Amino acid sequence: MRATATRLHDFAENSFLRRRQLCIGRRHREVKEAWFIRWLIVFAAGSIAGSFLGVCIHRLPRGESVVWPRSHCPKCGATLGPLELLPVLSYVLLRGRCRQCGERISIFYPVIEAGVGLVFVLIVAGRGVTIGTLNYLVLASLVVVAAGIDLNHGVIPDRLTLPWMAVGVAAGALWGLHEVAIRAIGLVVCGGLVFLIALLSRGGMGGGDVKLMALVGSFLGPWGGLASFMIACFIGAAVGVGLIVAGLKKRKDEIPFGPFIAAGAIIVCISGTWVLRLVFPWLGQAGF
Ligand SMILES: [Zn+2]
Repeated sequence: MRATATRLHDFAENSFLRRRQLCIGRRHREVKEAWFIRWLIVFAAGSIAGSFLGVCIHRLPRGESVVWPRSHCPKCGATLGPLELLPVLSYVLLRGRCRQCGERISIFYPVIEAGVGLVFVLIVAGRGVTIGTLNYLVLASLVVVAAGIDLNHGVIPDRLTLPWMAVGVAAGALWGLHEVAIRAIGLVVCGGLVFLIALLSRGGMGGGDVKLMALVGSFLGPWGGLASFMIACFIGAAVGVGLIVAGLKKRKDEIPFGPFIAAGAIIVCISGTWVLRLVFPWLGQAGF
């Protein structure tokens, strides 16, 4: 009798434990799924933004509206339906061709969609979900457009940089007047530095680069802007040497600098203060 009671008790305890383990396992799986879905949503938002940025890169230098007409095939003019506007997926499903006429769709579109999706995930992972993160997402989007247009056309349109500089400085008001002042200083310092370099190097950098750096300074302030510029110079030098060694460019060839400024700014947007401490170690003592 006693033995049976013990066995029953053991059985009850075991099944209780097993149920609890199952429960913990399920909760663990649920947490994992929620985690995955959250990042999938951030990636999807980024790739939708990337899809729009691709349109901006294509249309801004041509002076066209970025919202009208709706996206269409450049060859047959067919307007794209909702299923053809899904970032990345549509390209894969349609195997990179227009559904109406079979014209090849540029690989540039899915690449920028996936790329911006990834940048959004990295920025949110690095910065968390705050109003400040929005600041970095907007700047990253702007420099992606500038880099794309600079790569394709060798210019960065004022229509992009000038109005957004004003937005960058004004957005500082969300944190108070001192932040507006810091951003105005960032605009002047970063733009001024590249302006001086452009004057001294006579053609190494252009007016577009000056305004793009001023834009970066207006969103990141002087230290973030200068860190972006230094990272841009490192990457630019490395890529430039690589292209010359690989025989793809000659020493005299001009390589657009906008994409490197974009890369530097995006790295600062993602990484936050530790990159600033790495580039400017003395800032650590100033309580940065
Ligand atoms: Zn077509």
